[in-house]
Amino acid sequence: MLNVPSQSFPAPRSQQRVASGGRSKVPLKQGRSLMDWIRLTKSGKDLTGLKGRLIEVTEEELKKHNKKDDCWICIRGFVYNVSPYMEYHPGGEDELMRAAGSDGTELFDQVHRWVNYESMLKECLVGRMAIKPAVLKDYREEENKVLNGMLPKSQVTDTLAKEGPSYPSYDWFQTNSLVTIAIYTKQKDINLDSIIVDHQDDSFRAETIIKDFLYLIHIGLSHEVQEDFSVRVVESVGKIEIVLKKKENTSWDFLGHPLENHNSLIPRKDAGTEIVKPYTPVSGSLLSEFKEPVLPNNKYIYFLIKIYHTGLFTPELDRLQIGDFVSVSSPEGNFKISKFQELEDLFLLAAGTGFTPMVKILNYALTDIPSLRKVKLMFFNKTEDDIIWRSQLEKLAFKDKRLDVEFVLSAPVSEWNGKQGHISPALLSEFLKRNLDKSKVLVCICGPVPFTEQGVRLLQDLNFSKNEIHSFTA
Ligand code: NAP
Repeated sequence: MLNVPSQSFPAPRSQQRVASGGRSKVPLKQGRSLMDWIRLTKSGKDLTGLKGRLIEVTEEELKKHNKKDDCWICIRGFVYNVSPYMEYHPGGEDELMRAAGSDGTELFDQVHRWVNYESMLKECLVGRMAIKPAVLKDYREEENKVLNGMLPKSQVTDTLAKEGPSYPSYDWFQTNSLVTIAIYTKQKDINLDSIIVDHQDDSFRAETIIKDFLYLIHIGLSHEVQEDFSVRVVESVGKIEIVLKKKENTSWDFLGHPLENHNSLIPRKDAGTEIVKPYTPVSGSLLSEFKEPVLPNNKYIYFLIKIYHTGLFTPELDRLQIGDFVSVSSPEGNFKISKFQELEDLFLLAAGTGFTPMVKILNYALTDIPSLRKVKLMFFNKTEDDIIWRSQLEKLAFKDKRLDVEFVLSAPVSEWNGKQGHISPALLSEFLKRNLDKSKVLVCICGPVPFTEQGVRLLQDLNFSKNEIHSFTA
């Protein structure tokens, strides 16, 4: 079939349509295309009328520039002279004039969120909005500590400033409903993985990794914000914008007061010893009636963590208090959900906390694989007390007849009348019976490394193919 462009181009949900916000585009005069605009910006012509000087713009000053031939607009705290751009603007002059002499951030977000205005209007930059003089003082000298925009670099010791990367800073802007905290990292390789944002009640904390340093923003916000927030990164300039939603649409006089280590740049080696340990996220529960409701933006991650009292790492985790922080990386792993396609028999071999990857597998397999006939879990532990979620597993097996669970203990009390021992050919050959001779099978295995390695060898001896085995390795 030929793909013939229809009348309704751009397609109803295409980026072009979304981007234009359903507004009709205004025919541009000849010589006013995007390419012409780019050519003009590169021509070296003074587009701001300030001969390259950047100024601080007061609200009063901004208001004065509200005519077509003298039109300044503020977007996220930066002021642009958009008069030279008027004739090149696909949405037309009237649309730009809606924000003339004022803060156009909200309007811009509604209509042009996708536009890379920083680069498009680079040559039109007049400067940034002025910060009220009263709050430019170093907060350490002030009784009533408030934050309103950038704090001076003098808060950092000279050594850090000299030895560190070019010093980051931050700023904030507001609209009626949003507060944007912008972090200028001065690094072009910044991406979303470099930033961790936490906020709880009125305490806001953002940790940005900049090469070997951590840049911290830690603020007690002056007003309440909603739980929801978004983060975006403008990689080309190394800027991070964290957009918070105000609880009440009022104007904030100041951002808040500094909390511990606010606006400081700490060498990562001094931020404590960095320890990295992989953990598999689990669900809130195995049983659907106990499942947590799915929250917007998946704000909750559940981990099942075993504390080894003589260990180095988990006692530290055990000592964490509500309000403390850990950094969480993006997920890693190679398990593909496509392995479940047309699956009929699923066997799970878990030892100790090696049970954790099985949690979501069980949840998913029992609800989302129509072809599934049988799931069997063999769960190895030392003692009965070590069996994680035993009663949930028993309840689930009772509720769903496709699931069988067998517990195997290596150090049971004498009264234990279940299976005993370690993973072995005898235990496996009895357990791994396929439903039908040629049924599609998957065996997942996870536990201490030697357990998993031995298990994989035994499975191969029992003629399971590579595709039929998935081992989780820490
Ligand atoms: P554990 O309680 O020490 O051991 C659980 C069971 O496995 C016990 O019955 C134990 O028998 C047996 N076992 C231990 N080593 C064995 C070996 N070499 N051969 C045969 N059986 C053996 O387990 P844990 O402390 O919870 O540790 C679980 C391990 O799983 C950790 O190493 C963790 O890193 C790993 N894990 C990996 C992932 C992943 O890769 N995604 C996820 C979760 C956990 P004994 O009584 O003889 O010790």
